Amino acid sequence: MPICILDRGVGGAGRAVESAGSHSVVARCPVGMLAAMPPTPPPTPERDEARIRDRGDACPGALRLHAADDGRLARLRLPAGRLTSRQVEVLATAAESLGDGRISLTSRGNAELRGLAEECGAELAALLAEAGLLPSPTHERVRNIVASPAAGLDGLGGPEVQLWARALDGLLCAAPWAAALSGRFLFVLDDGRGDVAGLGGDVTLVAVGPESALLYVGGLALRVRGADAPRAALAAAGAFLDAAREAGNGAWRVRELPEGHAPDVAGALDRAGIAAEPVPAGESLLVLGQPLAPGPLGATALYVLAPLGRLTAAQLRALLPAEEIRLTPWRGAVVVGAAGPDRLAALAAPPYGLITRPDSPWAGVSACTGRPGCAKSLADVRADAAPGRTGLPVHYSGCERRCGHPHGTWVDVVATADGTYLVDGVPTARTALPEAVATARTAPPPAVTTARTKSATPTTTATTTTR
Ligand code: SF4
Repeated sequence: MPICILDRGVGGAGRAVESAGSHSVVARCPVGMLAAMPPTPPPTPERDEARIRDRGDACPGALRLHAADDGRLARLRLPAGRLTSRQVEVLATAAESLGDGRISLTSRGNAELRGLAEECGAELAALLAEAGLLPSPTHERVRNIVASPAAGLDGLGGPEVQLWARALDGLLCAAPWAAALSGRFLFVLDDGRGDVAGLGGDVTLVAVGPESALLYVGGLALRVRGADAPRAALAAAGAFLDAAREAGNGAWRVRELPEGHAPDVAGALDRAGIAAEPVPAGESLLVLGQPLAPGPLGATALYVLAPLGRLTAAQLRALLPAEEIRLTPWRGAVVVGAAGPDRLAALAAPPYGLITRPDSPWAGVSACTGRPGCAKSLADVRADAAPGRTGLPVHYSGCERRCGHPHGTWVDVVATADGTYLVDGVPTARTALPEAVATARTAPPPAVTTARTKSATPTTTATTTTR
């Protein structure tokens, strides 16, 4: 069953566009420059060509630290980006006492600590476990759950998906077989506003009020009861693992399954006792909406963005007091239980300098780690990233892997070996970067605003690394 994807994004389409379901990546490049479109790591198979994975994924976790040029890196999965006040304190303390004092926010709403000493793994694990941030050591890397961060706060979507995220996390951690999922397998839970539906989930749930949810897996769409939604998502993940085993290609993600090996989601739901009905093609629209804009969020919350996706320990602590914090896939934090212009003004002012307005020159500007933290980087992209005119999101990458790039429509800035950059594929001197990026961010997008998945068969087109 084809799924129609309606993009309500800022630019509608163009530039770098990633569609949910098919997960195809299309970069906006000048005509004739399609050969310069983003490559992916490792090399992307042709569409409908199965990827052969001959090893497990190497995604870092809280227990599996990655050796980077600036020390060890720990990636902490936070289902729905959620942190309690106590966990905020622990994370800030861990960053200060064990790392480089900063917390990186990822494009999946997770948190990373960098600059960790080689031998600090046990101490870090103990700190995190004590704060309830490591509920299952065997499952810590598979708790990849993104949920609409403003759900239940601003009147645009009910609170269900936040509850589903917690339930799904509990189910995942309680299922021994689920530990076999790759660290890249992603659950996306959208409250109906479409803000996270386009983030390329392997299993996507879209709430249709509190009573019902649409379940999307590959090219399939099924309607399930809201009360069954978390169990349905887990069953779908099980169907994927079965299909991957049968396919024998070591697929990490649904789109990597070869043709003819679509997961038997309906069968898995049936075996789990979950009622499901197919969604007619005309009703399976997956609506893609806007990311959250920084500022007040309803009467009881606010939303801020971290400049270039990093918070110091002091900036993280400044979000307290709060009922809870929800880190977002756009490298921000929803502060639940905090409202009012005074609070926003305090977070925007020195020494914190958080982004609190959508028209901030730093809003929508992101960058990968770059030099000196990443050995692959060809430039210090974080130093070269510049504030500018608001418009499309822009992402600066130190190499063609484009780690942590945004989803949807964005301006692609990639360092090259000769000390220059490519801006949407156009060679650009470093000195000309601010103007070129500003122009690209405000250029009118192409007219195409919809995309349709190719077929009911999951495709094998891969995206760049997501975090
Ligand atoms: S995109 Fe950036 S962080 Fe990723 S490998 Fe390249 S230089 Fe490193």
